[in-house]
Amino acid sequence: MPLQLVKASPKFGLRLRNSLAALAALVTAAAPVAAEAQGISTLRDAEIEQWLEDYSRPIFAAAGLNPKSIEIIIVNDPTFNAFAGGRYMGVNSGLFTFAKTPNEIEGVIAHEAGHLAGNHGARSAEAMANAGTPMILGLLLAGAAIAAGAPEAGIGLLGLGQNIAIKDYLVYSRSQEATADQSSITYLDRLGKSTKGAMDIWGRMRNYQIITGQRINPFLQSHPLANERYSALQTRAMESPYFNVQDSPEEIQRLQLIQAKIKGFLHDPLQTLRDYPLSDQSDPAHYARAVAYYRHSEIDKALEEVRKLTTAHPNNPYFNELEGQILFEYGRTNESIAPHRKSVELIPDNALMRINLARSLIASNEPDLIAEATTHLKRAVAEEKDNGFAWYELARAYAEQGETAKADLATAESRFQSGAQGDANHFARRALPGLERGTAEWRQAMDIILATQPADGAPPLPSAEPAPAPAPEKREPEEKKTPDVPDPIIIDSN
Ligand SMILES: [Zn+2]
Repeated sequence: MPLQLVKASPKFGLRLRNSLAALAALVTAAAPVAAEAQGISTLRDAEIEQWLEDYSRPIFAAAGLNPKSIEIIIVNDPTFNAFAGGRYMGVNSGLFTFAKTPNEIEGVIAHEAGHLAGNHGARSAEAMANAGTPMILGLLLAGAAIAAGAPEAGIGLLGLGQNIAIKDYLVYSRSQEATADQSSITYLDRLGKSTKGAMDIWGRMRNYQIITGQRINPFLQSHPLANERYSALQTRAMESPYFNVQDSPEEIQRLQLIQAKIKGFLHDPLQTLRDYPLSDQSDPAHYARAVAYYRHSEIDKALEEVRKLTTAHPNNPYFNELEGQILFEYGRTNESIAPHRKSVELIPDNALMRINLARSLIASNEPDLIAEATTHLKRAVAEEKDNGFAWYELARAYAEQGETAKADLATAESRFQSGAQGDANHFARRALPGLERGTAEWRQAMDIILATQPADGAPPLPSAEPAPAPAPEKREPEEKKTPDVPDPIIIDSN
């Protein structure tokens, strides 16, 4: 499924991380306590993630950072924001809709890279490096809350009882802001990229700040944008020999497709249909309307719109993904296999596409197809070990095949990735007797048991002797015949 929101709580819609429904996603990390407190969610979507990879990695490299060492997080939040710390850089979905060109977003990414390269979060870097994604989000949000003048909210949000100076996390000093600005221009120059986008987007932010006041926008809270800073940036930017380099029409269109998808999945469907009237026959308009109709339970119209895209661009993996998602979510699971299979063929290394396909295959109830699903899911968890949703689906596939111990192990991993240590311990213990001692799976179960062992009063480690096989975990069959909630699926991580 395309756009997927990874939510702390299933109450709010999208599976961001995997399901921007059409953003196709699966949710991964379960959102932890800190994230849950504010109801934030991260977003998984193969298309947006690929966009960020393509645009961020060169900038990180130009900044002297190891591009592979930095994890990029997409936050489901309509406000404009970006942040960086430790080995993470996060962007809000609102950054995409606020920007007018890819080059503007490059300016923001380069600025964040400047903070990373300058080690501006040095005091927190180590803590962040050791924390999982949800924890990072909690820390970042806590920083934002404090910047907004509500320290008790920030501290409550964290709830860690740690003597970390939270305010050090995300609020940069004016000199750090100026340094990040100057660094950003250096990086863009190294890449032969224009610095005009940075000027344009900061200029709009500046006006926004003047008009609305600073407290409203989270980005301005952590990145104060003073007039003198803007002037200094402008002077330097305009000296760049690449100032007038422009994004190509293809690059503009690629961003417009992402904007259409985000609006389709995250904005009110009726508003999206007003924003993209039928008179607009562009690809982004078809994309936005396909998602809006899908979320508005108008499946025929949704399919008509998405099929205009898959017919015109049969080799676009994301259009195929959306068609598969729409079919799947409306119970036409067998029909959804072909478009999902196509998207896997087009980007075989993408775990999210394989998870989509696997879900459709499992729903077929055909043994051969379920066996194939297992293969895709094993590949997916090899790509994304921390994808709790992929482990969950793998558990379902194993259970369908009667592989009880492996199903329990996959469930244990899924629960572990969701932060449910007690459940993880329970399922790993249950799996162990059915796994052959010394195999990779046996070791995986032992690792989970050891990692989740309660400190006191824990039962002894289970013996490796075969024990009577426990009854397979009863799983709710995924009945999706009635598409009551066409929003991207929510994964309850707890
Ligand atoms: Zn900054």
